Amino acid sequence: DVLINTISLHSEDDDSDISLCVMTDISKQVHAQDTVFRQANYDVVTELPNRFFFNTRFRSLLDSALRVESPVTVVFIDLDRFKWVNDTFGHSIGDALLAEAGHRIKQAVDMKSLVCRFGGDEFIVVLHKSREELIKSKSAENILRTLADPFRLQQHEIHLSASIGISSFPSDGEHPDELIGAADTAMYHAKNRGGDAYEFFEGDMHERIEKQLQLDHVLRTGIQEDRFSLVFQPIVDLTNRSSELFEVLLRFSHPEFPNVSPAEFIPLAETTGLIRPIGQFVIRNALLHLHALDNQGDARYSLTINLSPRQLQDETFVGFLHEQISYFKISPERIILEITENSLMENNIRNEKILEQIREVGCQIAIDDFGTGFSSLSYLRRFAVDILKIDQSFIQRVPDDEADSNLIRGIINMARELGIVVIAEGVEKKAQYDFLVENGCDLAQGYFFSKPVRAEQVYGVLINT
Ligand code: C2E
Ligand code: MG
Ligand code: MG
Repeated sequence: DVLINTISLHSEDDDSDISLCVMTDISKQVHAQDTVFRQANYDVVTELPNRFFFNTRFRSLLDSALRVESPVTVVFIDLDRFKWVNDTFGHSIGDALLAEAGHRIKQAVDMKSLVCRFGGDEFIVVLHKSREELIKSKSAENILRTLADPFRLQQHEIHLSASIGISSFPSDGEHPDELIGAADTAMYHAKNRGGDAYEFFEGDMHERIEKQLQLDHVLRTGIQEDRFSLVFQPIVDLTNRSSELFEVLLRFSHPEFPNVSPAEFIPLAETTGLIRPIGQFVIRNALLHLHALDNQGDARYSLTINLSPRQLQDETFVGFLHEQISYFKISPERIILEITENSLMENNIRNEKILEQIREVGCQIAIDDFGTGFSSLSYLRRFAVDILKIDQSFIQRVPDDEADSNLIRGIINMARELGIVVIAEGVEKKAQYDFLVENGCDLAQGYFFSKPVRAEQVYGVLINT
């Protein structure tokens, strides 16, 4: 880049022209200006427009959309578990992952879209599309899919997902803040569904969040107010139809939330950190009940207890478990800890360590909801899993669905090779029971045998087969 200053001199006397040119090399200044502009408007990590630049662009984009009455949708993307990436692999890998994620998002949407890094692990895409056009173009699915591909950074292969919320102009708001707020709210709902999902903003979402806040409030006082209790569902031995193993399931009862399921309040307690005292309540009371049963008769019962992903992250968990088991004088192999397949995959370095510690305490490990995640049997071998629980969604479809029936046969056979015990979950019908017996499944649970019962009923539980 050069700056050219020219002076022309015209002489009246001899009619001659003289020009004087001075050329100055200004590439450094231009470069500096460019740098200042980029630094002010672009994010260094992802090289995408930053929040500041985005706000200005978005506002003018909405102004012109309003004038020509064209549709706009706002796609708010938040990476799931990004904090875990930073904590586990360090910030430079975290930054590289963000850069790659930003690049993939840009590739997944059409070129005219405005893509920005909104902050932390949040990205926003503004599309010149209506909600219907967005659905048709599968933009949200494409973003989810591209982010679900493993990230290969240095020697690591990192699996990630994202939660997406979508709002539309002008139906969900006419101002940038309203639209971003609505998309953010919808994103929060997608995250609450467990992530790797997208949601469109709905008018009642704010109320649903309000309801969640209320639930959080009553959960907080739930332990002192004695609102939590445990029920026990028999797990039946299919070879002799006896039942000496029970799954411990948590219940919460409150006048405002009479039948709220743990599938609803446990994920909430996870996001608020309340899972720690609740998880401790479950372990302490499960062992207390087992201890009481031991005192009534012979010590033949064992329990499986559900653990949530957050409990696996909790440094104090194994110590607490050990202390309670010693306190109640229960031999540890009678306690089986259930971990869902998905939570096992989420953080496998830390999980490997925790599972090893649980094993040192002497407890057994079961994989819950097997088949719903992405692990494989060979992968499970690495974690030295004792028990595998096939998710009820597969059991529901046997024996009619041939593919699921084959899958279950395969799981049973391979598990046997690996010395892993198989439990079928959610058995409701005689035909399912017959199928499982015929194919050599070890154990099963479900309404067909018995619903979960109160501790007092454990002795008298009648197994229907
Ligand atoms: P899960 O561990 O897979 O538990 C099985 C769920 O299926 C239980 O629901 C049980 O009541 C239900 N169920 C049992 N048999 C049948 C059947 O034949 N048909 C059908 N449709 N359902 C059946 P519940 O008690 O509502 O628990 C839901 C989930 O909440 C559990 O799924 C577990 O992931 C979680 N959960 C429950 N208690 C605890 C707990 O103490 N701690 C943690 N972290 N999670 C818990
Ligand atoms: Mg379970
Ligand atoms: Mg399950």
